[in-house]
Amino acid sequence: MVWGAEKMADFARLSINSATIDHRLSLEQCIDACARRAILAIAPWRHKIHDAGLKRAARMIRDSGLAVSGVCRGGMFTASDKAGRERALDDNRRAVDEAATLGADCLVLVVGGLPDGSRDLAAAHSQVHDGIATLLDYARRCNVPLAIEPLHPMYAAERACINTLRHANDLCDELGPGVGVAIDVYHLWWDDNLEAEIARASGRILGFHVCDWLVPTTDMLLDRGMMGDGIIDIRQISRWVTAAGYEGFIEVEIFSAQNWWLREAGEVLETAIRRFDEFV
Ligand code: ZN
Repeated sequence: MVWGAEKMADFARLSINSATIDHRLSLEQCIDACARRAILAIAPWRHKIHDAGLKRAARMIRDSGLAVSGVCRGGMFTASDKAGRERALDDNRRAVDEAATLGADCLVLVVGGLPDGSRDLAAAHSQVHDGIATLLDYARRCNVPLAIEPLHPMYAAERACINTLRHANDLCDELGPGVGVAIDVYHLWWDDNLEAEIARASGRILGFHVCDWLVPTTDMLLDRGMMGDGIIDIRQISRWVTAAGYEGFIEVEIFSAQNWWLREAGEVLETAIRRFDEFV
């Protein structure tokens, strides 16, 4: 039987972002569904951690033997007033605490878009810079790496005004140790600078997320595809990420309200395992 070391190593790097399966499941059920299929890592969302209770979540994850490839998510640093930005920082410090308690590889940051009513993109960029810089002091003390996740430009207004890996790399250069990037093929596949920017991110890649871009995409947020169902050359991007020295987990992260979220978690996971082997 050909089940060589290369394939084993590949499967061992698979992590499941809980959003891929958790809509009807508790964190406990997500953990159980992954552990039963010998998946080695999970990336839980904070609302699921809160539902379970942090201490209990940490205990369940520890008992299951799963690693935590990342906690989703911190960020949302932008706000129209100082009080709003302070509230965001307080929440981010709690997110850092949660990531530390779970022993997560990183806290993923979706940085925030334009504040309500604003057209000042440059101001939003500087709020993000300042927010991460402030949080970074705390995150360093807690030993939690912060992963800036650039999102597709269609989210610039509402979710994240950092939209290219170049911009995220620039921020990392400015901010210094303790902050890196999460590379998500869904958000970055279209960028003609991607190969060069992934190489530039060497040593600071904290996460690698996979799914696929469907044609046509019918919903900006909730119509991501399973690997292999869309047009992203995931293998190519995966090779670039590997060439940049990244050896961590590879997270399957699929928001799919009309397809995968309607299916049983077991079917989704087993499909993800097969497609991961074939397309990642
Ligand atoms: Zn992602």
